[in-house]
Amino acid sequence: MIKRVFSNLFGSPATRLYPFTRREPFAGSRGQLKNDIAKCIFCGQCQRRCPADAIVVGKKPDKSWAFDRYRCIVCGYCVEVCPVKCLSMDPKHGD
Ligand code: SF4
Ligand code: SF4
Repeated sequence: MIKRVFSNLFGSPATRLYPFTRREPFAGSRGQLKNDIAKCIFCGQCQRRCPADAIVVGKKPDKSWAFDRYRCIVCGYCVEVCPVKCLSMDPKHGD
């Protein structure tokens, strides 16, 4: 018990001073979906492939791309099928 008390008093903290100190994402982490909308051609491939119905693509005349991050299961299928590679998985969260 005494050993534990002293190790907690004088050891390094078990937590980080977030948001000033941020942990790097783990290798292989998929993180969150990002779309470089300037490159998007609104083809709808990502919407058709998404198993969670998290993407809605509006075609002509009002081209739009909407994504519900609370439905997304972070599978990455949309990134694979995007013909212009404007979709990507950002391993960092909260940025
Ligand atoms: S697959 Fe890519 S180019 Fe096509 S609508 Fe989705 S994000 Fe845009
Ligand atoms: S990562 Fe998967 S679940 Fe999320 S939007 Fe893309 S296809 Fe849908």
